[in-house]
Amino acid sequence: MPDTVTIPVYENFIGGVWAGEPEHMPAINPATSETLGALPRSSRETAGKAVKAARAAQASWAARPVWERAAMCVAIAAEIDARHEHIARVVSQEQGKPLAQAIAEVRKAADGFRLAAELVKHMRGEVIPVQDPRKLALTLRQPRGVYAVITPWNFPVNIPVEYLAPGIATGNAIIWVPAPSTSLCAVALTQAIEAAGLPAGVINLVIGEGATVGDEIVAHPDVNGIGFTGSAATGKRIAERGAGKPMLLELGGNGPVLVFEDADLDKAATAAANGAFINAGQICAATGRLLVHRKVADAFAARLVEKAKAIQLGDPLHQGTTMGPLNNANVAAKVREHVEDAVAAGATLLTGGRPRPDLGSNLFFEPTVITGVTRSMRVFREETFGPVLPIVTFETEAEALDLALDSEYGLSVGVFTADLERGMRLAEAIPAGIVNINAGSTYWELQLPFGGGSGTKSGLGRLGGKLTLEAMTEIKMITIDRG
Ligand code: NAD
Repeated sequence: MPDTVTIPVYENFIGGVWAGEPEHMPAINPATSETLGALPRSSRETAGKAVKAARAAQASWAARPVWERAAMCVAIAAEIDARHEHIARVVSQEQGKPLAQAIAEVRKAADGFRLAAELVKHMRGEVIPVQDPRKLALTLRQPRGVYAVITPWNFPVNIPVEYLAPGIATGNAIIWVPAPSTSLCAVALTQAIEAAGLPAGVINLVIGEGATVGDEIVAHPDVNGIGFTGSAATGKRIAERGAGKPMLLELGGNGPVLVFEDADLDKAATAAANGAFINAGQICAATGRLLVHRKVADAFAARLVEKAKAIQLGDPLHQGTTMGPLNNANVAAKVREHVEDAVAAGATLLTGGRPRPDLGSNLFFEPTVITGVTRSMRVFREETFGPVLPIVTFETEAEALDLALDSEYGLSVGVFTADLERGMRLAEAIPAGIVNINAGSTYWELQLPFGGGSGTKSGLGRLGGKLTLEAMTEIKMITIDRG
């Protein structure tokens, strides 16, 4: 008999039951190209079944007292904490981030459920004074109903929790479509949620191609709201397919980080490097463009090169690794193309710039610092989503502002200056969702508003803290005639 290698076969979670699909797609370890398992490549029909299961579960879940739903979120947080090492290992293996970063992500996910549990107890309606003496007018906050949640692969546990926790807390039922390349992470998180005892059908996990199962749930007439985090291109498609439904769209960024000559350069360099290299730069709020005053540019670039060179690129599960591979071939191709385009147009590579297939797969890419970047280069204009720090110099505040504004995106910005008045001037002038003064573009906490500036390609709406709970609920206006 020939030796056969069996790989685990994974399933969807629909209506409280794990069930397989006839079609499969592989789960791949980006550091080794090894196949980790066979994932369901679900059909539209399966996605439709998940909508049905969510619909069937939603009303009774919404009818549970708020305190009970909050307690369930606390129980889920405890399950995530109890198995955080397992979930983090899956994240490291399948997404590619170093284990320490994966553990931090999973711990934050547990915090996300605890935060939703606290906040939901403070949601309240109001009694509104009216002219008619016979009437009493009051508002209730009610869940929207059945939610489509579609998430990317860069933070495969944290980003889903940004929707799942407030969604569960407020009494919605959810169909979750994770990114195909981090579906095992989704299975691990769903197992924790199941173990906490969430009633069947409140969370339904459907694994498959976004253009099939994601599209089906977004456009489905029985889905009442959409939470989407991903690229601007997919966000646009979802906005069209889900037209008329309330939606949160958390899309891409090309975050400028501005460094003035009076800034604390050590602090700024640490933040800019972290913003470009943590998670191998695959962060929507990454240091996409580094704008530095000409006077300090050389000294600043030298600090960044030093930090880039100190990074240990390698297998994310190996001790000492501080940067793993990129997650998939599409993002790796884009990163290579952006660097090649910049170099061909005259930019200078100070360090990095090359793929490192010798480390285990074609997805390893060196931490890269590039100077002499100009506005026409792709690395300036587009979201690179990789470990690349493009440096552009400026002479005046007006020029820095003009460079910062020269982008279709408007997500997250960092401004380093000792002059807080200047910091505030810029913060008010740049149409991004979040501006951090004397911190990098990636600084954010779960209870702070986060989202794209209006009219930019970075998205629609704000999540964070009570804002997500508000977005996932609607106001019911009730009047009573007292006779
Ligand atoms: P993507 O848009 O390719 O995919 C995101 C999700 O959408 C995946 O689950 C995918 O399967 C699904 N999808 C794809 N086509 C679909 C369709 N037609 N209908 C419905 N669903 C569909 O994005 P990605 O490559 O997974 O993630 C990277 C992007 O996400 C970057 O642009 C990044 O900036 C952005 N992002 C934004 C934030 C934020 O909070 N603003 C956070 C993280 C990532």
